[in-house]
Amino acid sequence: MIKRVCKKLVDDSATVAIGGDFARCLTSSTIVFLHGDLGAGKTTFSRGVIQGLGHKGNVKSPTYTLVEPYELPQLNAYQFDLYRLADPEELEFMGFRDYLADEAVCLIEWPEKGQGLLPDPDIDIELRYDGEQREIHFVACSALGETILQRLNDEI
Ligand code: ADP
Ligand code: MG
Repeated sequence: MIKRVCKKLVDDSATVAIGGDFARCLTSSTIVFLHGDLGAGKTTFSRGVIQGLGHKGNVKSPTYTLVEPYELPQLNAYQFDLYRLADPEELEFMGFRDYLADEAVCLIEWPEKGQGLLPDPDIDIELRYDGEQREIHFVACSALGETILQRLNDEI
């Protein structure tokens, strides 16, 4: 079973493209954590995933709203950006349990801010700077995560 996948991303279109590849490997509710410094490409990757799941319009970061829902043809998506979360308890107020209970892909930027309340992810992703370029590292954290990375590894 594949537990890790890494790839070099030469420009932002490569980041969007691997998001699209990843989207094609998703078939059911999946929790995805996105780690990486500011500007590392977390939102760019999420855009690729959400557009890959069939969203036609723009995808911006829900920096102030914390979460943006997308109703999509195959699988819904929730994009979280917890950067501005002051206290993990705020997650309760925003009703995050309802989002996680939905049949949907949850893409969570800055999951460290929700530590203690968020469940474990299926896939943990890290985006790293590599000069002007980036690298993406996927780690499977559940049986579902391993199945997804197996598919992704066959695809890229
Ligand atoms: P984050 O959400 O991690 O703060 P963003 O995705 O909002 O980061 O921004 C990343 C920035 O880096 C954008 O300007 C984007 O165009 C650029 N970028 C994304 N992927 C790459 C890449 N592989 N190589 C170079 N620049 C990239
Ligand atoms: Mg972002």
